[in-house]
Amino acid sequence: MTAETKKRFKTIFNRLRKERPVAVCELTHQNPFELLVSTILSAQCTDDRVNKVTPGLFKKYPTPQAFVKAPAEEVEKSIRSTGFFRNKAKNIKGAAEKLVRNFKSKVPDTMEQLLTLPGVARKTANVVLGVAYGIPAGVVVDTHVARVSQRLGFTKDSDPVKIEKVLMELMPREDWIYGGHLILLHGRYVCKAKKPECEKCIIADLCPSKKLFLKK
Ligand code: SF4
Repeated sequence: MTAETKKRFKTIFNRLRKERPVAVCELTHQNPFELLVSTILSAQCTDDRVNKVTPGLFKKYPTPQAFVKAPAEEVEKSIRSTGFFRNKAKNIKGAAEKLVRNFKSKVPDTMEQLLTLPGVARKTANVVLGVAYGIPAGVVVDTHVARVSQRLGFTKDSDPVKIEKVLMELMPREDWIYGGHLILLHGRYVCKAKKPECEKCIIADLCPSKKLFLKK
């Protein structure tokens, strides 16, 4: 990675930071377990939709034990509107089982342990570690972060693990938690998948993709 790339990233990052000094996870949760379940549910689904489903879900199933006991069909019914509900229910029940069996029903606080849970890849683990525990183990790379990183020309990769590696190199560790969410929110609210709002984007002059969208 060249010094010039690092410098360009820093300029972009500082502008985004100025625009959005606070960037937090928008999934409603009361504890690490709720955040874990919400993050599993948020795959291919909006946070808004997840936040509509989770209050009722956690009222019914407030603990990992409650999810273990619940019949899969019941959990599926409760989370149906988040999409891919069969797979998500299977992962949530599987994760709950593992928490009860191996982790005294507590969500672990290391990347290594989190990655042993069904349905948990680095993105989910980074959300839980960063948001619930304040541990900067890596950078959250979801679909928004991946898209923004590509459009800004910092990566050509679509593999989230490779994109995360680039972002970890571009950001100092103390910015990993905030920075991931900052880029994510820029993608969610400005650099949208279908119609990015380049006219009001404060980093447009530094973005190689702007011309692609302003032409349309
Ligand atoms: S200029 Fe457009 S494409 Fe580039 S980051 Fe901003 S919104 Fe995204």
